[in-house]
Amino acid sequence: MRSVEALEMIYRPWLLRVTRRLARGEELRVNLAQILEQFYNALVQVVETGDPAWLDPILNEWVKAYTESEISSHELSLLAILGQIQLATLDVAREILAEADALSLISLVAPAFVYAFQTAARLEMERTIERISWDLEKANASLQRLDKSKSNFISVAAHELKTPLTLIEGYAAMLRDQLPSGTEYDQARIILKGMNNGTRRLREIIDDMIDVSLIDNNLLSLNFQPVWINRLIDLLHKELARSLEERKQILEIHPFDGWAEMTFGDSERLYQAFRNVLLNSIKYTPDGGKITISGRQLPGFLEVVVADTGIGIDPEDHLRIFDKFGNLGDVSLHSSGKTKYKGGGPGLGLSITKGIIEAHGGSIWVESPGYDEVNCPGSTFHILLPLRKTPPDDRTAKLFAPLYDAENLSGGS
Ligand code: ADP
Repeated sequence: MRSVEALEMIYRPWLLRVTRRLARGEELRVNLAQILEQFYNALVQVVETGDPAWLDPILNEWVKAYTESEISSHELSLLAILGQIQLATLDVAREILAEADALSLISLVAPAFVYAFQTAARLEMERTIERISWDLEKANASLQRLDKSKSNFISVAAHELKTPLTLIEGYAAMLRDQLPSGTEYDQARIILKGMNNGTRRLREIIDDMIDVSLIDNNLLSLNFQPVWINRLIDLLHKELARSLEERKQILEIHPFDGWAEMTFGDSERLYQAFRNVLLNSIKYTPDGGKITISGRQLPGFLEVVVADTGIGIDPEDHLRIFDKFGNLGDVSLHSSGKTKYKGGGPGLGLSITKGIIEAHGGSIWVESPGYDEVNCPGSTFHILLPLRKTPPDDRTAKLFAPLYDAENLSGGS
């Protein structure tokens, strides 16, 4: 008997067997019967032509027809359905056909099923990958929306807070000016000083919030002028001397090649960036610890290295600390003091520092063996800054021409 005839002979019982195995409800069986008829016709073509690609359209259609929940529940996987169809084919062939006919039919349809399994597995995998990448894209878009609304909120909140703060500062200044001299007003002066400290800290936080939103929106504009890194470090040392003394910490500064050379940069912003890193070193190093500033000159760059003997940072957090709100510590230890041991701040400092350094064309990263409050392995921050020997634009060139020429003539101070 020809194989196609054998296939035709088993068609009815085969259809009945497969629909019973696969679909429970009557309605489902009617639908399934139509689909199975298509599969059967394709199978006949495969057997006649020897080309298993006849199965492609129906397999493609099946995979496309799946809903997401069907794909994730393996019960309804196309592979499982094909398995049932293959079993039913073997059973029915054995039951209905003579042994030799059954054997020859089975050996003919076997490669078709192998092909169907391989194709179905590939198509299902592609569909799953498609679904996962779609889910990822969706999650990514919603994260971006969230980040955007976070950034909008910071910007709006900062501007809203600035107005009442300016009022408080103004009225406090008026009160201070109008306060008569005399010891009976000492108490009022202490209160005013307290108010002043509070408003100053609040202004710093609001300024940080504004800086973060400027950086987020690529609006940070740099005011390029001649800068000497050694002078910035000296100034910082002077500003932080009191905090270092309070925390009984030593700041060691090791001069290095190139640190006294003039470079073009935004001195205020660079000061702010170095200040954030140093304040953190003070904050996250126990009393009596040591902070070292050193560095080296590289072709076209200056690398400033700030190392401390503090609590260190887990390698998995080395990138995260530069994100906004990337503070890692216990929120309950949050402190509004700038140099209190482990007193975590709002988590904006390093993200602003990174924004400033990157706006200069540089980069910042940290090295630390890990976080350990007992053994204090320390952290080392590296700041790579391009050495700009020429002004970035004509306006800066004109403005600083005398200084720039003198520096070039003297070959650096
Ligand atoms: P914060 O306002 O919390 O200090 P930053 O952006 O300045 O925010 O720092 C982010 C986080 O990075 C900090 O909360 C702290 O966990 C960690 N960190 C920064 N500098 C150091 C350091 N020198 N040693 C240990 N941890 C640090």
